[in-house]
Amino acid sequence: MEVFTTRAALAEYLNRHRSAGKTIGFAPTMGALHQGHLSLIATAARQTDLVVCSIFVNPTQFTESKDLENYPRPIESDKAKLAESRCDVLFLPAVDEMYGQDEKWHIDLGQLDRLLEGEMRPGHYQGVTQIVKKLFDAVKPDKAFFGQKDYQQVLVIQRMVDQLDIPVELVMCPIVREADGLAMSSRNIHLSTDEHQQALALSRSLNLAAAEFPQKSLAEIRNDALRFLNDSRGVDVEYFEICDSRTLEPAEADAKNGLVALVAARVGKTRLIDNIILR
Ligand code: AMP
Repeated sequence: MEVFTTRAALAEYLNRHRSAGKTIGFAPTMGALHQGHLSLIATAARQTDLVVCSIFVNPTQFTESKDLENYPRPIESDKAKLAESRCDVLFLPAVDEMYGQDEKWHIDLGQLDRLLEGEMRPGHYQGVTQIVKKLFDAVKPDKAFFGQKDYQQVLVIQRMVDQLDIPVELVMCPIVREADGLAMSSRNIHLSTDEHQQALALSRSLNLAAAEFPQKSLAEIRNDALRFLNDSRGVDVEYFEICDSRTLEPAEADAKNGLVALVAARVGKTRLIDNIILR
């Protein structure tokens, strides 16, 4: 695996491979890699010739300074995991490689910037799009691989790609879970054993919604899920919503397809999100 820390060296290497006719797949991450991340790389390796993974803890997308400070950065073990995966290139820039002084960025994300994660973490998606645009410029991937785990993020990036006419195809990969159902996340390492058990309420609330979906109204399903979450010890719910899967606007009461249920909650000090596509 090649490792680059500058955009120029990365571009030079990738240009050579692109000129030789190779297609490039890209999976951006913030590191602390787990099987969820590695599944993106495995999918990229099946669909493209050369797989690039970036690890960059992007300061502009954090809305809490403690969260940024405490974000795990186990770089040596990440490198070892990538070396054993089908990753060909690791891009590992420092903050000042990606950002100049006082950079301005704004993109119109419409309601996506105001709903759900947009509402709970104001400015988060501006930071996400700012860095993903820079990374797309550096890598120029044919395909970019993102996890359904961050469902709203995929819609946000697709909107940016459409608006700025970026020639990349986005591929959304399924959520990888622990055997007990907890969606894998770099933040899970902050959970104590007890909190890990409590955090299972998120995936259970989504499974409950999926089980009720054929019989009950969306309002009843949402109420049942919220009651379940509120009754779960140690879980501080931020939202549980059933939304149009393309816009994330609240679903029409009688909608039967194109729906996604999304949940966010705090367990102890750790904020967790999860979702399920209702079929
Ligand atoms: P992060 O490092 O949290 O920014 O995540 C990098 C990429 O990995 C994003 O596209 C995430 O959606 C994806 N990802 C994170 N957790 C999972 C998971 N459990 N299953 C699938 N993809 C994931």
